[in-house]
Amino acid sequence: MIPASKKIRLILDLRQGGILDTALLAAMEKVPRDDFVPEAFRDRAYEDTALPISHGQTISQPLIVAKMLEALNLNDRVKVLEIGTGSGYQTMILSHLCRRVYTIERHRPLLREAETRFDVMGRHNITTRAGDGTLGWPEQEPFTHIVVSAAAPEIPPILVDQLDVGGVMIVPVGDERREQRIFKVLRSEADVEIEDIGPVRFLPLVSGMPDTAKRGRRAEA
Ligand code: SAH
Repeated sequence: MIPASKKIRLILDLRQGGILDTALLAAMEKVPRDDFVPEAFRDRAYEDTALPISHGQTISQPLIVAKMLEALNLNDRVKVLEIGTGSGYQTMILSHLCRRVYTIERHRPLLREAETRFDVMGRHNITTRAGDGTLGWPEQEPFTHIVVSAAAPEIPPILVDQLDVGGVMIVPVGDERREQRIFKVLRSEADVEIEDIGPVRFLPLVSGMPDTAKRGRRAEA
């Protein structure tokens, strides 16, 4: 059993970390992060740190999730595209803050686990897809809000194309060698405006599906 005080401590830490959006803090207080981490890490679920999940991935650090979602500036009328469902933790927070979340994950087993959590928790405004998020979700574009949960080598042009005029995308850019930065991309009629909102450390955004990559390697052997 996780003491409620740990959860409240985390919310206070987020406020101290500069998060002012009360709707966002309330949504984060509602979401039980301990249900999104493996059993072995449950007692650390309310630490402000990324933790391992399966398939070599991590559940994002709460303060980073909060900074990215605060920068998205959501309201309950919009639909959001999320790339990199992972554990589904950020997806669940998003589902409390907007009308519908479209979320894409390239690891099918991770996505299935996240879907089970959404069902158990009774969230019905989340649409999932197993696929390569660098291709976006063409059937649903344009999006007023896009958030990418893995570090892209550059601002993904396909996702910029799927952003509505006046829309905003939050995307970490960089790799293991370069410092990664979170960019806020604002699309206007004629071009895009890019704002740097700070340093970050994310796992890479990887193109293609894991099973396709394996088939490719076998074909080469
Ligand atoms: N916000 C998630 C973070 C998961 S880590 C959470 O808190 O749990 C980043 C996720 O992005 C991983 O699950 C990884 O598999 C996924 N990912 C990486 N590249 C991707 C791509 N091209 N398309 C979809 N998902 C991708």
